[in-house]
Amino acid sequence: MLRCNNYVFAKSLEEAYELNQKRNNAVVGGNGWLRLRKRQWDTVIDISELGLDNIEENDDVFKIGAMVTLSDLEHDPGIEKYTKGAVRESLMHIVGTQFRNTVTVGGSIFGRFGFSDVLSMFIVLDSYAELYKSGIVPMHEFAKMPYDNDILTGIVVKKTPLKIAYSSFRNQSTDFPVVTCAIAIGSDKITTAIGARPSKADIRTAHIDELKDKEGYAAKIAKSFDYASNLRASGEYREHIAEVLIKRTLEKIEVSYGN
Ligand SMILES: Cc1cc2nc3c(=O)[nH]c(=O)nc-3n(C[C@H](O)[C@H](O)[C@H](O)COP(=O)(O)OP(=O)(O)OC[C@H]3O[C@@H](n4cnc5c(N)ncnc54)[C@H](O)[C@@H]3O)c2cc1C
Repeated sequence: MLRCNNYVFAKSLEEAYELNQKRNNAVVGGNGWLRLRKRQWDTVIDISELGLDNIEENDDVFKIGAMVTLSDLEHDPGIEKYTKGAVRESLMHIVGTQFRNTVTVGGSIFGRFGFSDVLSMFIVLDSYAELYKSGIVPMHEFAKMPYDNDILTGIVVKKTPLKIAYSSFRNQSTDFPVVTCAIAIGSDKITTAIGARPSKADIRTAHIDELKDKEGYAAKIAKSFDYASNLRASGEYREHIAEVLIKRTLEKIEVSYGN
């Protein structure tokens, strides 16, 4: 349960930012994760009245507001077309429909959770975190930044021509993933993200010539990440699954886009 002394609907991003500078205050997105923290907040800052709940699309980019829900993202026709269903695939296994109707892109990306399907997906795209004070930061850099008191206003995804696919492996449907895998292939570069290792998603980039030997590529990339054990799986098992997921994700790309 979310416990706080004050619940404030911010009237501007500046007000939300100022309030968020106090250690005992927190921004709330969909409250899916925040409510699980065993903590009494002084002020919880609600940014739902700041118009951050839209997905805007033009010829070059998608601008996805921080308060867009995972369901809105999952069912956005423009995102569906651009990623050929990869974003939908990354989101559809997260808990259930009612849950995804409430949790937000902002909370999911700002949280930089180790298990995050959302971060694993966006980190391989030409995407950027839009921060109120720090400005626009490439997603793979944002993933590594220390937690601070900035506010994520949204994410920007450039429509760079990419072949994209996503896979995850769960012990049981709707559970946290054991391993996640996203791949984006550009004109000369392949980017592969492996997440839930159980640490958060990171990427490897290589020249597309490496795909001449897909088995070799999958083995080499899977081996290049660190894995650890937790109650869901051992590190050794995760590494094995990562290699399998890389191969499967490359196959999905072949099926969706052809050779
Ligand atoms: C039981 C459970 C299972 C889950 N399973 C999965 C899964 O399988 N895969 C997956 O990818 N995710 C999973 N998640 C994570 C979920 O999808 C959301 O990412 C998570 O709930 C955070 O989103 P939220 O909108 O609820 O954020 P909140 O809980 O409201 O906030 C999360 C954190 O981000 C901060 N925050 C929120 N919005 C902003 C903002 N705009 N700017 C700055 N800081 C902000 C908050 O202060 C808080 O620290 C799971 C969560 C739960 C509770």
